[in-house]
Amino acid sequence: HNHIDHATPEKVQAAIAADDTHVHVPDYETFADYAAEGGYATLKELRANGDWEEVQEKVLASGLRGLGGAGFPSGKKWGFVRANAGPRYMAVNGDEGEPGTFKDRYYLERVPHLFLEGMLIAAWAVEAEKVFLYMRDEYPAVLEILAREIRALEEAGVIEPGYVDLRRGAGAYICGEESAMIESIEGKRGMPRHRPPFVAQVGVFGQPTLVHNIETLHWVARVCREGPEVLSGTEKNGRKGLRSYSVSGRVAQPGVHLLPAGSTIIDIIEAAGGMVEGHSFKAYQPGGPSSGLLPASMDDIPLDFDTLQPHGSFIGSAAVVVLSDQDSARAAALNMLRFFEDESCGQCTPCRVGCEKAVKLMQADRWDTGLLEELSSAMVDASICGLGQAAPNPIRLVMKHFPEEI
Ligand code: SF4
Repeated sequence: HNHIDHATPEKVQAAIAADDTHVHVPDYETFADYAAEGGYATLKELRANGDWEEVQEKVLASGLRGLGGAGFPSGKKWGFVRANAGPRYMAVNGDEGEPGTFKDRYYLERVPHLFLEGMLIAAWAVEAEKVFLYMRDEYPAVLEILAREIRALEEAGVIEPGYVDLRRGAGAYICGEESAMIESIEGKRGMPRHRPPFVAQVGVFGQPTLVHNIETLHWVARVCREGPEVLSGTEKNGRKGLRSYSVSGRVAQPGVHLLPAGSTIIDIIEAAGGMVEGHSFKAYQPGGPSSGLLPASMDDIPLDFDTLQPHGSFIGSAAVVVLSDQDSARAAALNMLRFFEDESCGQCTPCRVGCEKAVKLMQADRWDTGLLEELSSAMVDASICGLGQAAPNPIRLVMKHFPEEI
């Protein structure tokens, strides 16, 4: 047996400090910092004499849409949830699993209380009895920050103990799909539900549930505090608002770049410090692997909701990955399909078997484009959820824009 030292609290602290595998929590704005700057005054005021419909008007006027990827107008959801008799719940989707997306983490590791106040404002608006905060477990620092700050909110009397239930995900990408997340919160295997009924009607434990993404709630707080113009005041290329683009790949300064919603890939590369030296721009993933790949020649499209659909793509969570002349579009698409094959929940055949078949077909020297197109149609038409429906996008876009590689 090893000699066991008597552990004093000091020794434990020293051991934790010396252990670099322990969670490193970055400096962030604590409850005390945030409250000193007027934080939670808006929530207090609303709880005392606020009118939820006025707040909804404000949020609608700002143009805020769901930033988890679906882009549904945020204020509208509140009305749908309130239309159903209580008890109502709220579930926050913090399962940021879309490859290349790290904007929620960025905000939570810096200004968690903007999100927390936004969350409590939305919970107030729908009179939620309880909030389930479903957080990606691969973000240990974020979990630590949230646990601490929820405790601080309880101690300060902003919320009742237990009102916010912090849940840890278990690494399944599909649990970022709202109904699969709800299944997981209920303690079941995370598999998407058929709709209707929608989660606004039948959500957590069968009750009407408001689901919002982390960044969406961050902006709810800012819109309530600073007015709708904080978003609607920016206009570019005919698009209103701001987007937090998570930018990675062959750019000099990867990271979260907050830019006008009408930004093109050229603006985004420029904001990210240009291309890495020795690389020239070849292709880009505009919004997660489900959005596929577009060629550098399509560089004048504003990367916003609705603008990419005509091109067989979409903005999703705004996870932009930039590829260079040293990358293969074909290899990138295969990598995306491998990801979907791994992450398919397996519930429906077109997606479970389709992803696996697509990976096999994409490994051939020459792609059987006819068969891949037929497979893609079956997956799009017959899959239950967005994973299977969007998984063929990389296949179709590579067949269309990079035929010389396949
Ligand atoms: Fe599951 Fe895929 Fe079907 Fe979605 S499409 S329910 S992930 S098998």
